Amino acid sequence: MLKQILSRSGLIARGVLDDFRQLLSPPLCIGCDRDLAAGDPVFCNACLESLNSKCAGTGPVCPFCGWHDLNNRQCRFCSKSFKIRLYYWGRYEDELVQYIGKFKFQGVLELGIRLTDEALKRLANLLCENYYDYVIPVPLHGSRRRKRDYNQSDIIAKIVSMAINAIYIPDSIFRVRSTRQQAKIKNEDRRWKNVENAFSLTSGSDIDFNRKKVLIVDDIVTTGATIYEVSKPIREKDPEMIDVFSLAYAG
Ligand SMILES: [Zn+2]
Ligand SMILES: [Zn+2]
Repeated sequence: MLKQILSRSGLIARGVLDDFRQLLSPPLCIGCDRDLAAGDPVFCNACLESLNSKCAGTGPVCPFCGWHDLNNRQCRFCSKSFKIRLYYWGRYEDELVQYIGKFKFQGVLELGIRLTDEALKRLANLLCENYYDYVIPVPLHGSRRRKRDYNQSDIIAKIVSMAINAIYIPDSIFRVRSTRQQAKIKNEDRRWKNVENAFSLTSGSDIDFNRKKVLIVDDIVTTGATIYEVSKPIREKDPEMIDVFSLAYAG
């Protein structure tokens, strides 16, 4: 018994010591694990510079083929009368893969907030030119949402909506069935099949999309299949415009 009490008090003492150490030692850069200089709680200057030199902010491009000149036909979606346009911060490669992964799967929410802020420094002006009415995050399926406890696209969308002064609407679209992660599927046809008819307007939702400008928000756009499917029920309501904002583009 005495042994148990002693070992438990040892654990508590160690815990207090760890807290104390954390208080004394400066936090580490999420990118390189070096001590952070005062002022930035997430990145050191070198990591931030490297990130921003690769992620310049681009758009609008076609989310299905990445083509810039949307009036010049490039893929079957660019050539359709209703265009969806994508604005993204950087290519889904190098450290952006690592950081989005930490934000999405390891619960490092302050990293997601910071990445979104950086992305908006490059893209907010371009987005503001379009005066969006609504900002809508790509929803997670209920089961995955319960497992993860948060939807990374909700967090990004909320920050974007505040920056561009549009209404954030998290619950107008829902995922009717669970789907696999698009990034894990290599075959393009399978990616389209995976999300086919996976989204629907939430019943009882009285959002009026008619003649409205809508910005859909996702953390990563891969083939554009998810965006196409999320936009389907909105397109049926005759919006004026559907654009997309993402941190990264992997297409
Ligand atoms: Zn660093
Ligand atoms: Zn295209």
